[in-house]
Amino acid sequence: MTHRIVPAPSRLWLAHGVLACVVAVTATGWLPGWAIVVSLVAILRAHLLTMAAVILAIVLPRLLWPPTTLPHGAIEGRVVTLSTAPTSGQFGWWALGTLDDVPVFLELPDDEAEIADSVLVTGIVTDDVATFAGRPRQVVRVEELVIASHGRSIYGSAGASIRRHVAQRVSGGREGRALLAGFLVGDTSGVSDLTIEAMKKAGLSHFVAVSGSNVALFLGLVAIVSLPLGIGPRRRAVAGLAALPVFVVATGFEPSVLRASAMAALVLAGRAMDMTIEFWQVVALATIGLLALDPWLVRSVGFQLSLVATCGVLVGSRLSLAAGWLRRALMATVGAQVAVAPLLLWHFGSIPLFSPLANLIAAPLVTLATALAISGVVGPDLLLVPAEWIATVIIEIANTAASWPQVGWLGVITAALAAGAGIRLRHRSPRGVALVAAVFVAFVVLPRTEVLEAGEVAFLDVGQGDAILLAGGDGLYALVDGGRDPVLLLERLEHHGVRHVALVVVTHGDADHAGGLAGITGRIGIGEIWEHGDPHEMAASRRFLADASNLGIPIVVPHPGHTVRLGELVIEVLGPTRRYASPNDQSIVLLVTGPVRSMLLTGDIEQVAQSELSDISVNVLKVPHHGAGTSDRDWLLSTGAEEAVISVGANEFGHPVPWVVAALESAGSTVRRTDLDGTVIIDLGT
Ligand SMILES: [Zn+2]
Repeated sequence: MTHRIVPAPSRLWLAHGVLACVVAVTATGWLPGWAIVVSLVAILRAHLLTMAAVILAIVLPRLLWPPTTLPHGAIEGRVVTLSTAPTSGQFGWWALGTLDDVPVFLELPDDEAEIADSVLVTGIVTDDVATFAGRPRQVVRVEELVIASHGRSIYGSAGASIRRHVAQRVSGGREGRALLAGFLVGDTSGVSDLTIEAMKKAGLSHFVAVSGSNVALFLGLVAIVSLPLGIGPRRRAVAGLAALPVFVVATGFEPSVLRASAMAALVLAGRAMDMTIEFWQVVALATIGLLALDPWLVRSVGFQLSLVATCGVLVGSRLSLAAGWLRRALMATVGAQVAVAPLLLWHFGSIPLFSPLANLIAAPLVTLATALAISGVVGPDLLLVPAEWIATVIIEIANTAASWPQVGWLGVITAALAAGAGIRLRHRSPRGVALVAAVFVAFVVLPRTEVLEAGEVAFLDVGQGDAILLAGGDGLYALVDGGRDPVLLLERLEHHGVRHVALVVVTHGDADHAGGLAGITGRIGIGEIWEHGDPHEMAASRRFLADASNLGIPIVVPHPGHTVRLGELVIEVLGPTRRYASPNDQSIVLLVTGPVRSMLLTGDIEQVAQSELSDISVNVLKVPHHGAGTSDRDWLLSTGAEEAVISVGANEFGHPVPWVVAALESAGSTVRRTDLDGTVIIDLGT
């Protein structure tokens, strides 16, 4: 006979779970202490005793063992246990770990180490703090790292070897194959930022954040492996329990895995003890347990989304128990989407409106690809081929669905009002309902693009770097540089409704000019490319040019005097006039002449190249090199520009330097900056 493990009703457990989250949020200093009192009053019907236990479980450990910090300064040969694999970030390799039981963020010299490794670290404990998954961590700058041992525990080494094995088997293929590692162990290191961003926008990124279904698949594998042993269901549950930590390590302790594994562990424990636990009890106990171990989890967006989506799936599928499978599946995904919507709005400012549809199409494909990939990783390599095809289709779905409408706060509020109006009007005036729906679609759902007029030039706000969009009219565009970030560049181009550019100019190869361009080939049509030529090619421009030439896009090294007409605008090349020692001086310099006004685009040229570009007088000056002090004061003023634009973002170089801004302003120029004004639009037609 089976027993109910805890007799309290489901809604009480739900209340306990919510309370645990409130307490954890308070314990990590997000909300003031009175939040606990308010929530206690709000959940008055819950058992006082259990609530007190919840509070004590989360708060007491914080009081007894307050978080310690490491003293700043140099360290030598100290043992750090890595809790993630080294990951490539914007400023190099990094990993998370613990040093003397203090969670740290490690800036690494290379990727030599693996998850769960114990390493000896020499470097500096800085006073910087990096917040990761909601938790502040001290930053340790690692100068030298020696691996002491691979995965101290059996779980550590088993998990790391699974992760290594998967990475090895899926390496060397195209992006679809790399995505399989995401489905299997949440490792997306081989997947491009653009694809990850597309999956996020389409509402599909949870497929690469390993969670419930993957835990179920893993436990299924364990059950299959233990079948020949001839053990009964209770012992199989024990075997599953024993194997679970391996999966947690293999997937890099992702918050969504912790949540799913804790829930699975409870179900398995119940089965091993011949007890049943109701779903809400499982959710609440797992939440309370995890937050008691680590209250910071509550601030991890991954944990929040995973928890809330799980509840949404359950509510959605409970509401449609009697329906057919398709409707049940749709209700489950709609339930998850509705549940996570407030969180997505809070954290990211928008929600993908048709994400349930994208999920409904993608989910069976992900399951199939994952199953084939598991077979391919465990067995014959051949099975990875169809898995890769399916993953490629999923990437296509993500790319398509990413351009479907997103709605922000305004959209959600309007939708709620429209739905309310629609319900009230539905009997009296069906036409009224249609009208309300049409107005909603027109004003909120359809993405608002800000199409540039002929003769307008937009200095796109892409952070530190240059990306300048020239509109000649009739859909004719030129793009001068692309900033550092391909995702941001694509977003900006999309905002201005640009799908094709007649000309892309790479002024020079620096990452803050060419880095963003590396992602647009194949996504934005390109007519022709101008580049500055040798000898200053760099990784960022090389990749863009290689991709472009593979697509058959003509690449030209233009010489001074080269002139093209772009609708209302005429673009003339003024420099570089010769080979320069400095890559910045090698920047392509353009004179853009509109119907009324002219503009000088200067890349990052410095004093040497400036001195060889004399007697230029224009209405608008793009201040060279993000307003750095590398310009010649007299040359800047000699252009006589009435408007000066500085394309700049947060940076550690001190751009723009105050004297450049002051000199231009004292000479009567209006200085506009993309870091202060956002995208700056200049009209050369008025
Ligand atoms: Zn630059």
